[in-house]
Amino acid sequence: MRKAVYPGSFDPATNGHLDIITRSAKLVDKLVVAVLDNTSKVPLFSVEERVEQLKEITKHLPNVEVMSFSGLTVDFAKSINSNIIIRGLRGVTDFSYEFQMALTNRSLDNEIETLFVSADTQYLFFSSSIVKELLSFDGNIKNMVPKVVEEALYKKIKTRG
Ligand code: ADP
Repeated sequence: MRKAVYPGSFDPATNGHLDIITRSAKLVDKLVVAVLDNTSKVPLFSVEERVEQLKEITKHLPNVEVMSFSGLTVDFAKSINSNIIIRGLRGVTDFSYEFQMALTNRSLDNEIETLFVSADTQYLFFSSSIVKELLSFDGNIKNMVPKVVEEALYKKIKTRG
């Protein structure tokens, strides 16, 4: 069975992420979207909230599973018997970092391959940080994130005051 991991912070998940998930799910038997529980960054959404949001927006994709993880991506991939890491590329700005990460992961485990998938052009300028920045200035994020994420973002902003 061909199993891939798509790791990321997904804070929050955007339509760009969802496009990568949809495209990648067609390439493999099982795609595990892996939400990084990163203790060094303070996220807007808790890892549980991000997992729930991703589960909701991928519920129509039967071969997609959402999990959380901490530590190294290669260790997580190995723990679920996957040897493919999916990463999204938005353009040259992502490339040098992503290439470096891919080579680092290969040096950690030579059996694991990184596959780069690009989102449709309409999503290429979307990022979680731009969504959060727009939101803080009351900008329109409607087309950038799935409906459930949009609602969760407005709720979060309200409760934070
Ligand atoms: P990380 O903190 O690991 O970079 P992100 O959640 O920001 O996590 O991104 C996860 C992956 O999705 C990365 O490979 C990133 O390049 C990719 N990605 C994010 N937004 C887009 C987008 N709009 N189009 C294509 N790929 C994207």
